Parts: sequence; structure tokens; C-alpha cells
Amino acid sequence: MQFSQRINELAAAAERDLAPIFAKIDEISFENTNKVMDAFREHRVAATNFDTTSGYGYDDRGRDVLDRIWADVFGAEAAFVRHNIVNGTQALTIGLFGLLRPGDLMCSVAGKPYDTLEEVIGIQGEAGNGSLADFGVRYKQIELTEDGGFDFAAIGEVLKTELAAGKPVKVIFVQRSKGYLNRKTLTVGEIGELVSYVKGISPETYVVVDNCYGEFTETVEPTAVGADMIIGSLIKNPGGGMAETGGYIAGSARAVELASYRLTSVGCGLEVGATVGQTKNMYKGLFYAPHTTAQALKTAHLAAYIFGEMGYNVSPKWNETRSDIIQTVITGAPELLCAFCRGIQKGSPVDSFVTPEPWAMPGYTDEVIMAAGAFVQGASIELSADGPMRPPYTVFFQGGLTYESGKIGILSAAEEMLGFGK
Ligand SMILES: *Cc1c(COP(=O)(O)O)cnc(C)c1O
Repeated sequence: MQFSQRINELAAAAERDLAPIFAKIDEISFENTNKVMDAFREHRVAATNFDTTSGYGYDDRGRDVLDRIWADVFGAEAAFVRHNIVNGTQALTIGLFGLLRPGDLMCSVAGKPYDTLEEVIGIQGEAGNGSLADFGVRYKQIELTEDGGFDFAAIGEVLKTELAAGKPVKVIFVQRSKGYLNRKTLTVGEIGELVSYVKGISPETYVVVDNCYGEFTETVEPTAVGADMIIGSLIKNPGGGMAETGGYIAGSARAVELASYRLTSVGCGLEVGATVGQTKNMYKGLFYAPHTTAQALKTAHLAAYIFGEMGYNVSPKWNETRSDIIQTVITGAPELLCAFCRGIQKGSPVDSFVTPEPWAMPGYTDEVIMAAGAFVQGASIELSADGPMRPPYTVFFQGGLTYESGKIGILSAAEEMLGFGK
């Protein structure tokens, strides 16, 4: 692919200014890789760990060892990683149904949770499908403050009211990443403060974190600062672009045990579950994950710089530190949003020859345009972009398996948009 002089100059300037930030990202990647390698060594990973099992999957040593490695790397007491968790939404569903009982209160303290969780909780969709609400689980939501922090006063009040009524809040729920919302991503440090605050008032309350897109962007995860449960998808950061599918849950021994009874059944927990040849990809994915996440972070910084210089409003800005891999660009016009997605698609290794078009996706009020040319269907650790066709025509994008390929995608998008005169 050839780029115009303007785009090449922008990229060169970006890389000059980003050098110290890229160096910092490399340090984080090194520290996380070191942690992963220590865990591999500690648990004596050998080729036999990759052996496959079928049927019940009893005594699947590779599976059990990966669970313990995962727990160590995430600073948790226990964990499970499974290829047969179909997506992040299911992993979150397993965790929530594992902990919550009729009459319990789930309180989301970072505002609205991810769209797909609304039907799981029962604040959207038809009654009777088996949501948490159908089982008598109560739900409350507390918005973040204007500056994007936790509203400690409001959280404290709910914790105290429920305690006074004789039933501590069961789950305080936090989404770490901004996801597809226009808000700040929460840092692990901020989540740590929340955990201390919650436990100080209501020690029995579980703090559960939707960790999607956050893994390995920092050197510690929310479990290392006291969260009881973190949950994520393997086709995002922690699968390293290698896992074909799957999800994970890590946390305290009891919380993970309760989730394991929802994963399989009460009584069976983690003792069953054939791995049918998927174990090696998950080991390899974890091995790559810190590095792959670093590639995605660098790609996001590069994009923030280039589109910022081209006059677009970007978030985060190129010189802001990050706790997830998502980047937004406000394109300001439908044709620019389409041009952006076209450029990303052209610059992809797979399906580079197709042209993304806006379409009416089920469940969305506006048409949505999406660009993805990924080895794994829908993998958002691979460079991918999407945006709803409504003002201000914001594109959300993330990923990049390698910085080089991510850069090609970003330059290709910038080139397409240049055609519109900015
Ligand atoms: C991706 C994501 C999920 C889960 O989405 P799936 O498409 O089901 O994997 C949940 N929360 C956040 C913040 C996410 O980014």
C-alpha cells in the first residue's frame, strides 16, 4: 500500500513524539510478559499440557494448570479459562448468576453496563426469558460523577441502607472500560480505591469487574487490588490474538467456585469440561497477550495523534495514559465515518476487498457501520472499527495484532478521509 506524502509525514511526526510513550508501553509489556513466563515456569508447563481430552474431560491437566497460571498472572486466588464460553457476555452471565440469589441487590456503580448485559440483568427485553430480574434479583445503577470518578457518597448510602435492612449488597458491579460509552476508562488504581471503600462499609459485598479490553494495559489487574471477580473475553486482550474463542473468570476462591457451578453444574464445577484441542491456543494466547495488547495500545496512540493532527476530536488524546485499548474519533459526517471504516477494511489482512456499508443491525436504533478483517470472526484484539450512523458520527475502534499492520490500517483510514478535504 502506498501513502501520500502528507500521511507519511504525519506518521513520522507521530512516531517521533510517541517514542517515549511507546517505550513506556514496552516496559509494561515486558513486566507482564515476565509475570506470564514466571507462572509458566512455576507451573512447569510442558508439551503434555497441550494434550487434548474428550467426553467428560476428567483429569485434564493442561486445563487445570492453565487455570492456576491464569490466577497467578491476574493476582487472584483462583480462575477458570474455557474455550466453550462463547463470548464476554456469557462469561459475565456465568459470573453474575453464580453470585446472585433471589432478593439480592446488584448495584452497577459505573453507570450503564455494556449493552448486551441489559437483557441479562432484565432492564431490557421481555420478562420471562430467565434474566436476573426474573429470578428476583434487584438492580440499581449509580452514575459516575461529572469528572468520571465514582460517586462514593451515593455508593456508601446504598451499602449502608441495605446493611441496615439486614442484607448487604451482594454485588457491586464495575465496567472498567468505557466500552461504547462516552466516558473515561477507569484505572486499576481507581478500582482499588472503590474496593477499599466498599469493603470498609460492607465487607461481605462482592466487587465484580467487567475487565473486557483492560487486560495487560497496566501491570496489575483489578483482582490484585482486591476485586472479588474479574471477567473477560479471549477474543480480546487476554487471548493474545491466538485463542480461537472463549472467556475467563478470575477472583477469590469462593467467588470462582460459585461461578464454576454455573459454568457446568452445582457439584461438578471445574472437574469436568473437555478441551477438544483448544488448550494450546489458550496457553499461546496468554503468552502473547501482553505483547499483543502493547501492539494495540501503540496503534491506538498513533491513531489519536494522526487524527488529532488532522483536526478531529479524539479520545483519549495521543499523550494520555490508557487503561483499555479503545480509541474514538469524532468524524462529524456520515461520509467520513464510512470513509474511515473503508480505510480500515482496505488495510486489513483478511477481506481487504470488501466495502463496509451501514446496515440496520438487530437491537440497534440507528444503522451501524463496521469494519473488520480478522483471522478470528469478530475478534476485537484485531484491528476493527464500528460506529452508529448518527451525529456526531463517532467511530470506535481498537486492536491491531502487530503495530506494523495496525499502522497500515490507520494510515489507510487517514488516507481515505483525506479525500474529503480535511
Ligand atoms: C466486549 C465487551 C463485553 C462482552 O461482549 P461480547 O461481544 O459478548 O464478547 C462486555 N463488556 C465490555 C466492556 C466489552 O467491551
